[in-house]
This record gives sequence, structure tokens and C-alpha cells, in this order.
Amino acid sequence: MEELRDKGIKDEAILAAIGKIPRHKFVDSALWNRAYEDSALPIELGQTISQPFTVASQTELMKVQRGDKVLEIGTGSGYQCAVLCELGAKVYSVERHRELTERARKILHELGYRAMFKCGDGSLGWSAYAPYDAIVVTAGAPVIPEELREQLAIGGRLVIPVGDEERQLMMRIIRTGEEEFEQENFAHYKFVPLIGKQGWGR
Ligand code: SAM
Repeated sequence: MEELRDKGIKDEAILAAIGKIPRHKFVDSALWNRAYEDSALPIELGQTISQPFTVASQTELMKVQRGDKVLEIGTGSGYQCAVLCELGAKVYSVERHRELTERARKILHELGYRAMFKCGDGSLGWSAYAPYDAIVVTAGAPVIPEELREQLAIGGRLVIPVGDEERQLMMRIIRTGEEEFEQENFAHYKFVPLIGKQGWGR
């Protein structure tokens, strides 16, 4: 936790959640010796579990409050989802690979967290449960998907890395009114691509 604090993470609730969640459960046993490093690690299907610093930064930017309804795009390992659950959010998580959805569902259940999972194209959000107090996209998008903006509650925060496939700028979009949005830009990151109708078409 000291490492994340030194790198600038200030929210003690987030640091405590990261300290509590057994990250090794989300990676293959061959990587258990690296599970508590501050680095992204490979998971199945060429995807990654995000670096703890990235998870902490995105979560800080989302300004999650206990009881918030949160949409995560890119379930991946399920680790970010567990952090959000630990913070008391009601989490809806979308992943395009069924195998990863089912794997994450199982791990979260074993750890005693409750979240809703869906396999599908998260670049379109999950309209059935909108609006959301916060939306986090954990894959790199070419543009800000219109559908995600529309699924924000007023006052809601969308945290999304936007750019090309090599480098993305972390953005936070806050819905300040029915048709009003404010955008802030943060640091650069490198994520796996968001693949879908409002992502990279493939
Ligand atoms: N949040 C994850 C975690 O904590 O392990 C990290 C996710 S990984 C960096 C990005 C994930 O986004 C991958 O699992 C990938 O399959 C998924 N993804 C990419 N495009 C997607 C889309 N359109 N809809 C849903 N998931 C998508």
C-alpha cells in the first residue's frame, strides 16, 4: 500500500480495499509470486489484470460513494469489480469474452462479493440498469462512446482512457445537466483495446 501511496493515491478507503483483496486469486497460480507487484499481469485470452496503481487511480477519479450504482466495462479478471464491491458500490460489469465473465463471476462469488455480470459489447453500456453514478472503462477507446455518456446519471462520472492503440489519455466526463458534460484530462496509460461498435471495430 505504501507504494501506491508514494505514487500519489490518497483515498484511504481505496488503499484499504486494495490491501484487503487477495489479488493472487485473480491470476494463474504460475503468477502468484508476482500477484502483489504493482504491475499488470496476463490473464486468459490475451487480456490483462490492470496494474493496482491504474485500478486505484481510475477508482479515485470515479469518486465512488457507498451505495453508488457503478458500471464497469471490461470485467477481465474481476479484480477492479471486487475493489468496487469492497467500496460498497452496486456493480454491473460487462465483458466481451464469455470465459472471462464466467471466471470472474465464480471468483467474486467465492470471495463473497455480489455483482451483476453480462457478456456482450460494453462499448454500448448496459442500458437496462442505467443511469449509473459512475462508469469505468478498463480498455482503451478510440472515442468517448455516446451510449456511455447517455447512461450517466446527472452528476455521474465516466472514467475512460481514450486514444490510439499505443497510448490513451485518461479522461473524466461529468454529466452536469441533461445535455451538459464537463471533461477533464489526466495522465497517459496503455490499455488493451476496447473492441466493439463504439470501440475499435474488429
Ligand atoms: N478490469 C479488469 C480487471 O480488473 O482485471 C481489467 C480488464 S482488461 C485491461 C480489459 C478487458 O476489456 C479485457 O478483458 C477485454 O476482453 C475487455 N473488453 C474489450 N473490449 C470490450 C467491450 N467492447 N466490451 C466488454 N469488454 C471488453
